[in-house]
Amino acid sequence: MRKILTLILMGVAVFSAGYFFDKYEKNTCRAGVAYSIGNVDQKFNVSEEQLIEVASKSESMWEKAVGRDMFHYDPKAKLAVNLIFDDRQQSAINETKSREKIAALEQSYEGSFKKHESLTDQYKEQAKLYDELLSAYNESLNSYNSLVNYWNNNGGAPDDIYNDLEQKKASLSGQFDNLEIKRNDLNSLAARVNDLGKQLANITSTHNSNVDHYNVQFSAPKRFDQGDFSQNTINIYQFSDINDLTLVMAHEMGHAFGLEHITSSASVMNALMEGQDRSNLAITADDLNAVKIKCGYK
Ligand SMILES: [Zn+2]
Repeated sequence: MRKILTLILMGVAVFSAGYFFDKYEKNTCRAGVAYSIGNVDQKFNVSEEQLIEVASKSESMWEKAVGRDMFHYDPKAKLAVNLIFDDRQQSAINETKSREKIAALEQSYEGSFKKHESLTDQYKEQAKLYDELLSAYNESLNSYNSLVNYWNNNGGAPDDIYNDLEQKKASLSGQFDNLEIKRNDLNSLAARVNDLGKQLANITSTHNSNVDHYNVQFSAPKRFDQGDFSQNTINIYQFSDINDLTLVMAHEMGHAFGLEHITSSASVMNALMEGQDRSNLAITADDLNAVKIKCGYK
């Protein structure tokens, strides 16, 4: 008699568990998931109001696609959304800083490159002008020298020619001084061009080593441990901006609704944070299909 009684109780217990599980699933589909806001670490620079706004945006991502009410905010709901600051967000902050540093170097390179280009043009123009002045000077000098030689070989110049030659000599000396000034200017311009060239090379090598460093540290695809869901909590640990936060939120809300990971990389419910379009956040056909299968919607 006792034996039979036990068997019946076991049967009832198993049946009950199955029944409650089934009921919970149906309730999620029918009544939706209520959530509240729990702990929001101030280090994220996101207020509770902003977090509610993000959750509401994630919520409508799902609801617009599905065409049914799936989630609602309720300050008393057991399921709380928390922002928990740890080394994951610290690493995201480091990534942003690193990216900003690289962008600043690129901008500085662009500025120096333009300056280098315009100084090089200026140098070429001045060097051409200098060459022209120099050959004019050499021509005048040669003609002066051959006249002096001629008259020296012929017993000296008459007074008027002598005076004329003395004037030419003074003018040549003036031209020479002028050429020297231009030569010095040209040399200091060349030095500036060279300095800028070195500066550009420095920026390039700093930039390239920063990019290498960035790629090693940050380019590996991130798994969705930016957040997690367990019975009464959605914890979010890391995001790079509001769009990123909205995506993580929508993913964890999907879990709270009872969805599993799906394989297509653009889907919100994909386990990797890689293929989703953050600038145009939306539920994919596969995400939608997962809800339909779960709840038996057509
Ligand atoms: Zn997940």
